[in-house]
Amino acid sequence: MLNFSFNQEQESFQAMLRDFSLHELLPQYTKWDREHKHPRHLWKRLGELGVNGLRVPEEYGGSGADCVIAGIAAEEIGRGDFNLTYAVMLNALVSEIIANHATGRLKKTWLPQIASGDKIVGIAITEPAAGSDVAGIRSTAIHKGNHYLLNGEKSGISAATIADAFIVFAKTDPDSGSRGISAFIVPADLPGVECKGYEDMGNVPIGRGSIYLNDVEVPEENIIGLENKGFTQVMNGFDLSRLLIGLQCIGAAFQSIDETIEHVKTRHAFGRPLAKFQGVSFPIVTHFTQLELIKWQAYRGLWLRDQEKKHTKEAASVKWLGPKLSQEAIHECMLLNGHYAYTKEMPIEQRLRDVIGLEIGDGTAQVNQMVIARELIGKDFRSY
Ligand SMILES: Cc1cc2nc3c(=O)[nH]c(=O)nc-3n(C[C@H](O)[C@H](O)[C@H](O)COP(=O)(O)OP(=O)(O)OC[C@H]3O[C@@H](n4cnc5c(N)ncnc54)[C@H](O)[C@@H]3O)c2cc1C
Repeated sequence: MLNFSFNQEQESFQAMLRDFSLHELLPQYTKWDREHKHPRHLWKRLGELGVNGLRVPEEYGGSGADCVIAGIAAEEIGRGDFNLTYAVMLNALVSEIIANHATGRLKKTWLPQIASGDKIVGIAITEPAAGSDVAGIRSTAIHKGNHYLLNGEKSGISAATIADAFIVFAKTDPDSGSRGISAFIVPADLPGVECKGYEDMGNVPIGRGSIYLNDVEVPEENIIGLENKGFTQVMNGFDLSRLLIGLQCIGAAFQSIDETIEHVKTRHAFGRPLAKFQGVSFPIVTHFTQLELIKWQAYRGLWLRDQEKKHTKEAASVKWLGPKLSQEAIHECMLLNGHYAYTKEMPIEQRLRDVIGLEIGDGTAQVNQMVIARELIGKDFRSY
């Protein structure tokens, strides 16, 4: 049987979050950007609504919800406040990594606090000399007695200035490429950890920045997964974050389209509503159609993940096209709203800046195309 509809539980969750997002998040969305503030109280509020712990198992204070539910959360929060979608996407990625690969003690320490919104955990892979080419990272983690000594620099890390800890990837066997990379939970207040924020174009309240690791002594029990296998073990988590990123961008774009439809129905030019001109309605239809297509590819990917079926190329396709088609739609909406939408009084210009960031974060279009090419054509023909 083929069934494209959400079930009762998914529909109620969607309706609750749509209402919350439009009434409690949207009115303040531009404020946090303009004031360069991270609304920690709203992150906690999302914890109360069960959004932060969707992928945290129930025994650790989460709801253990399915991935389709997480997708609905990403899309709906994306309508109200794009930057709070990190509470869905980042938390889902980090929670799955901890729940699937960390020790019982780490799970007990971190998962309930991630679910409640009391703690934020970032993920630190990228370095100044290694972004797309993850195997090229240079940070090291040397096993010494009962701890690992971490040294290196991480760059471009979301939540660098607001997180309480980071899952840091470092080389425990510097000579063996991605197979020699391990992952560690590193609390941000450990001696030797220093975080510095960037002046970003978008995603401002998320506090992206660099993390400097200078002789940081990380207890050996903070390793996630097996030594030297950290990266290969957690790779699968990115298939989830890529699908969620697509949906959070699509949520922001659909909201922009809804606002634009209202505008073109009421704004008059040349004696009639703008909506009566096909030069106005057809671009809206084009973007709506493209977004619908990629949206259902995203939910299909999440459904495949829930069924424990392969979904890597579906996730890569959504990560490649979701942010791209969304930013194109939002750009068009900005033009159709006229000069006023170019001001910071309206959310559209901010959505454009915010969504563009996710064309890069979590893998660029080219990197995701390489993932698809490897599956379609075979790994012997990969371009790196
Ligand atoms: C908003 C945002 C949030 C982020 N959050 C995080 C985070 O939380 N944690 C984290 O670790 N990192 C994060 N990043 C960093 C992000 O993952 C990297 O920027 C990304 O992987 C690209 O790496 P790079 O910037 O070094 O670009 P490079 O790898 O230097 O690539 C530059 C350009 O070359 C292209 N390119 C590279 N190799 C090839 C190839 N073989 N074929 C064709 N084209 C190629 C790329 O697609 C890109 O267009 C974030 C970035 C942004 C913008």
